[in-house]
Amino acid sequence: MPGSFRIGKIAGIDIDIHVSWIIILVLLTVSLAIGWFPQLYTGQSTATYWIVSLIASLLLFVSVLFHELAHSLVARRRGLPVKNITLFIFGGVSNIEQEPKDPGIEFQVAVVGPLTSLLIGAICFLLQLPLRGTNSLLGGILFYLAMTNVLLGLFNLIPAFPLDGGRVLRSLIWKTSGSMRQATRVASMTGQVIAYLFILLGIWIFFAGSILNGIWLGFIGWFLLSAAQSANSQVMLASVFNSVTVGEVMNPKPTTVPADISLQQLVDTYFLPGGLRYALVMQADHLVGLMTLSDIRHIPREQWGQVPVSTAMIPLSRLHVVTPQQSLSEVLPLMAGRDVNQLPVVENGALVGILSRDAIVHYLEVRRSLGVENAQSDAHNQLSRSA
Ligand SMILES: [Zn+2]
Repeated sequence: MPGSFRIGKIAGIDIDIHVSWIIILVLLTVSLAIGWFPQLYTGQSTATYWIVSLIASLLLFVSVLFHELAHSLVARRRGLPVKNITLFIFGGVSNIEQEPKDPGIEFQVAVVGPLTSLLIGAICFLLQLPLRGTNSLLGGILFYLAMTNVLLGLFNLIPAFPLDGGRVLRSLIWKTSGSMRQATRVASMTGQVIAYLFILLGIWIFFAGSILNGIWLGFIGWFLLSAAQSANSQVMLASVFNSVTVGEVMNPKPTTVPADISLQQLVDTYFLPGGLRYALVMQADHLVGLMTLSDIRHIPREQWGQVPVSTAMIPLSRLHVVTPQQSLSEVLPLMAGRDVNQLPVVENGALVGILSRDAIVHYLEVRRSLGVENAQSDAHNQLSRSA
């Protein structure tokens, strides 16, 4: 997410920290240093309380990181690519780039996070047992970690999609109904109901006099609500893209240009008269590259007469090529990740078309105005945003 910076890499997965994480780290440390530790573990200097509180807060985030690593490692083992893990104000998030393909995988990836937190909580609880009643600060840190990790595990097991518990719920409905879309709809509705309950409870507690707790609960409810809504539309979008193939959306008659003409000829004969922004470059009958407006702009105008297209183009070796049978959900990551706007479509070694971002947007627009499915408005908005 924007506003994040990278702190390192574990098992090949990038670990990022969002600036909002620093806010929560400070808040946690302050509340521990002036509340929890001085009240429960008396007789220490102020400096000691601050140091111990900072250590406890940092260790809590290490626990959150373990929770996310558990999700990420299981996801990767089950064939789902993991982009990174980001720690932010509400904890952590694993950016898994694909939705799981079957309910069993979904269940495993989701449940392992809360189980990890509960396990860390149990271990910390057992470790602090011998230190009980000794006023030991180490015991205090362990007890704090035991409590927070158990809470973290239980909170994430709440069946509010996209929390882990909501994903567990979705996998179970998916398994019994056989439909991922239906399961997502039910799980995200459950998530929204629970979110509203949090908000109502927050308002109730706020007016009952516990102002901060009320605001905090309302805030969690609001966060759950917006997460449930956006997760639902993302899944609906993915299921639209799953059902559409490249062949249905591509332009089957892309403009092709010969590789040996000069840039000046290309501009005068093809780009200007046709209002083109890109063309596929051919040598005899073979695709050898792609030429776009921005590739031309990189070459000084006075050289256009001498430079051949074959020198200025993006060569085939650096292009991603797709087939007409692939689904849009398979090829969209190629476009989104690398800032690519066109993908040549090739079948049995022969060029059969080109897939462009514009064509996808146009296709969805047409489907939407024909009212084919109501998920299209989301689809269009999402695509424009990433375009
Ligand atoms: Zn989780």
